Amino acid sequence: MLKNKSSIQIHIEGKGEKKFVVPTFFVKNWKKLAVSTFGLVLGLCGIVIYLVTKQKADALASQYTETLNEVNQQKELLSRSKSETEKEVDQAKKSFNKIDSTLEIINSKMKKRGLKTIALENAGGPIEADEENIELMSTFYEEALAELDKKLESLPIGVPHHGKVTSRFGYRRNPFTNRGREMHSGIDLKGRTGDRIKATAKGTVVFSGYERYYGYVVKIKHANNYETRYAHLSKPLVRKGEKVAAGDIVGLMGSTGRSTGPHLHYEILKNDKKINPEKYFTL
Ligand SMILES: [Zn+2]
Repeated sequence: MLKNKSSIQIHIEGKGEKKFVVPTFFVKNWKKLAVSTFGLVLGLCGIVIYLVTKQKADALASQYTETLNEVNQQKELLSRSKSETEKEVDQAKKSFNKIDSTLEIINSKMKKRGLKTIALENAGGPIEADEENIELMSTFYEEALAELDKKLESLPIGVPHHGKVTSRFGYRRNPFTNRGREMHSGIDLKGRTGDRIKATAKGTVVFSGYERYYGYVVKIKHANNYETRYAHLSKPLVRKGEKVAAGDIVGLMGSTGRSTGPHLHYEILKNDKKINPEKYFTL
């Protein structure tokens, strides 16, 4: 169909004639060809627009998927941290329950010794344990332990001197006449003149001076109606009204008063009644 040729002559202004030889098919069907070419170009344009749009849509889709994944990840992290918090709250509650039962044991022991007990009415923990309650519980236990610490520091526990026990609390043979029995109202600890004597608890000095039997003696008043006495001192080192802490030096060992040699006569009074100090030598 392209074998038959036709010639087309075009007149260009100023340049004369120009002659083209083209297949006759083109000349006969130029309208159809123009329409087809236009259609083809249009089609190509459509494809290009489609591809560009698709690319944009794909980019948007992948961006959307990415965002969605991130949101899901955050959600998962949140739920995981929530379950972890719940676990921690649970563990804290268990710990508090353990502390509670320990405090109850301490309380029963303190009660037996005539001591005021730690208030536990808020203990046992709230039924619903959440973070806010855990904070409240922590505060409560902090206060309870501080109270226990306060009680313990006023309790005459331990020894005022590390000497050997030479005479115990109770009835004994009279050490001066070696005949008859007398009540020994404290405990004797052997040592050397000048040895340092320590207060066994926090308190206030209510007496520091000389008494006929005790010799130089320091008497300290403690919380919960406790009193301790340190007798036969060579020298008291505190004055009446002075506040002392457990472990403070209150005087030096001696043999003043009714004494057979250098030693400390140590007494504990509870509600003005003399009790066996040896029971308080260890906690
Ligand atoms: Zn004694």
